[in-house]
Amino acid sequence: MPESSHTTTIQSTATQIAIKLIRRESVTPEDGGCQNYIESLLAPLGFVRTHVDTGGITNSIYTRMGELNGTLAFAGHTDVVPTGPLEDWPHPPFEAVIADGPDGGILHGRGTQDMKGAIACWIAAISSLCSAFTPLPTLQLLITSDEEGDSIDGTIRIVEKMQADSTLPDAVIVGEPSSSQQVGDVIRRGRRGVVQIAAVFEGKQGHSAYPDDADNAIHIAAPALEKITKINWGKATEGFPATTCQITNIQAGTGATNVIPGSCFVSIDIRYNPGIDFEGIEQRIFAACEDAEVVLDIQHQAEVFSTPDGEFLDQVCASIKQITGIETLRDTGGGTSDGRFLAAAGIPVVELGLTNSTIHQVGECVALHELETLTSIYSDIIINFEAK
Ligand SMILES: [Zn+2]
Repeated sequence: MPESSHTTTIQSTATQIAIKLIRRESVTPEDGGCQNYIESLLAPLGFVRTHVDTGGITNSIYTRMGELNGTLAFAGHTDVVPTGPLEDWPHPPFEAVIADGPDGGILHGRGTQDMKGAIACWIAAISSLCSAFTPLPTLQLLITSDEEGDSIDGTIRIVEKMQADSTLPDAVIVGEPSSSQQVGDVIRRGRRGVVQIAAVFEGKQGHSAYPDDADNAIHIAAPALEKITKINWGKATEGFPATTCQITNIQAGTGATNVIPGSCFVSIDIRYNPGIDFEGIEQRIFAACEDAEVVLDIQHQAEVFSTPDGEFLDQVCASIKQITGIETLRDTGGGTSDGRFLAAAGIPVVELGLTNSTIHQVGECVALHELETLTSIYSDIIINFEAK
């Protein structure tokens, strides 16, 4: 037997599963048979699958009753973002080619980092623990094919189902690619909220030589927009950066230089921290626009969430340190994630996954040693999980 046979076994399990998931083409909102494949791996380990399919989306809850107290869930998605032009890829995106890299093999394909690779690692960890008859907590895998799309019929429906059945877990690991330079250097313990605004400033169109007969919508919008750019949104708080507000589009005018525009469309994107809430944001926008004739459509796209410091965060970081020696940064950066639906149900959420250097890019890929490391970290988290 070669000396590294144990390590090799873990690595090859995660890699083999990742390859089979990547070869099941599943551009959002398609699942491509991934969740049936996952069932075929988990059923022999004692997992029972609950289908939560809604609105044409494939969602699954896989549950294995534990020998120990408490329920630990892993949440993830089988859908991937579109590939773009296939000829731009160094290897076909759904063939899961392994090529040589500076630190060993590199697995190429759409979804390697985001996030079929992490799903493969979690299953590999469970499968190795089950075959060693390790006593485990109750385990759930919460898998959707609607994360990269609208997220309307995805994880939120899984959470609703678990609330109805009183089967909410005690804590969740979300397998999003949180890591920066190496696996485990960054976890996300929260995400900023998102508010998006469409504003239409109303004036009266006319000839620029006859301004008395018109009302310039750009001139109406400009003072309000200046006030919006000067709103005090408050400071950085609870591990979050300060709330930010960006005017992202302005459209007005016909293109002719002698036509006064009758309306001006503006879009605004706000990323907010727990120091402010949706109502506070609305009030500030209304106040800035109070002198303008404007129709405002203010949408609360995603609620802010934050998992407080405590035993679950500490335990995840301890597992990372145990396997890699790394001190983990507990971050809240990036866009929103499905973690918000789980956090809204009061569950501690930590996002921990592979590195994110090639996500949503042509040539997405992951180093095989990362799959091995993440599998070991997940395994340590499961073994040491204690429900509070
Ligand atoms: Zn993702």
